[in-house]
Amino acid sequence: MSPKKQEFAPMPDKNGYFGKYGGQYIPENLKQAMDDIDHAYEEIIRRQDFQDELDYLFKYYVGRPSPIYHCRRLSAQCGGAQIYLKREDLNHTGAHKINHCLGEALLAKYMNKTKVIAETGAGQHGVALATACALVGIKCEIHMGEIDIQKEHPNVCKMKILGADLISVTRGTKTLKDAVDSAFEEYLRNPKDFFYAIGSVVGPHPFPKMVRDFQSIVGREAREQFLELTGGLPDAVLACVGGGSNAMGIFTAFLDDENVRLIGVEPAGHGLETGEHAASISKGTEGVIHGFRCYLMQNEKGEPLPVYSIASGLDYPGVGPQHCYLKDIERVEYVTIDDKECLDAVMTLSQREGIIPALESAHAVAYAMKIAGDLPREQTLLVNLSGRGDKDLDFIMKVLDIN
Ligand SMILES: *Cc1c(COP(=O)(O)O)cnc(C)c1O
Repeated sequence: MSPKKQEFAPMPDKNGYFGKYGGQYIPENLKQAMDDIDHAYEEIIRRQDFQDELDYLFKYYVGRPSPIYHCRRLSAQCGGAQIYLKREDLNHTGAHKINHCLGEALLAKYMNKTKVIAETGAGQHGVALATACALVGIKCEIHMGEIDIQKEHPNVCKMKILGADLISVTRGTKTLKDAVDSAFEEYLRNPKDFFYAIGSVVGPHPFPKMVRDFQSIVGREAREQFLELTGGLPDAVLACVGGGSNAMGIFTAFLDDENVRLIGVEPAGHGLETGEHAASISKGTEGVIHGFRCYLMQNEKGEPLPVYSIASGLDYPGVGPQHCYLKDIERVEYVTIDDKECLDAVMTLSQREGIIPALESAHAVAYAMKIAGDLPREQTLLVNLSGRGDKDLDFIMKVLDIN
């Protein structure tokens, strides 16, 4: 199967807006840098040699296409709709992030940038980016909070072995927020020669568009594979939503299929009523963060609130602008799953199917399990399994007190 060539989704508009969301809320000097990236991106994706290189790497390096898989035992337990998984957990490096990191690294190289910079929280974005930079042959600098460095030992080792420069951030809370500030300051020293690689469909235009386009391979493959395997389209497609890249990756191919329900699953953390969650679309209000407009968890001054999820890849106070638009036009339903339901899904999928999901992806699995029982057996649910649980093993053992 050869995935179709890049399609040019009609959104965003030329200023980077999805309805009223997105845009570029940034200083003038950065606007020039973002416009340069936008132009280089539009140029590169029209080039056959670039498309061929990306296709080649997706196939022989990442291992695409990732399969779709019918969870027969899990579906039988839920007693209703049939649950299928798109196995992004089987990609090289264990998650969907490699799809856009490869695209970004190739673009940075094409633009003759001297260094790719990013922040990382739990280290997933850092590892995927360090991998892509090693492959493409470009310098990579990852900023990470000192506390996160202590917590995420295996990912720290991976980034170092892959040749990335790891900057330990010791200011403030020594976690993700300070790592963002530190990485951004370094970028601002020389936006002409450096490339800031954003890790999701967030940030100023053109990043929400670009990251979505690089991830859209997931949905193009899944739609074709599902048709081939079942003879029809799924009744619903589900994905977890942090910044929203894996969700946009699978949703994009189904946006025009009116009969396919699209469901984005946000983290309810300790419960929406406790305030300790990261359900930005479900509970946030319009605001600006990191250079773009979106639904945001914020205080009266418009400052982002601390957010929480058991899955560190989901605890972002904002969310991709296209998701905000898709919520307003009611094309996508946004729902929530709390920590407990997430952990239950991790154990159930592991013990029914022999697949240990990432805590992030388990949110989408949990919602599929929750609704499957009330749906007829002929219905089908396709879940984007964005990553594998290897990174979460120690944590799961500890919180569930498994010996
Ligand atoms: C980072 C991550 C996510 C969250 O990011 P999105 O941009 O919302 O997709 C989800 N799943 C896994 C496995 C991740 O590593």
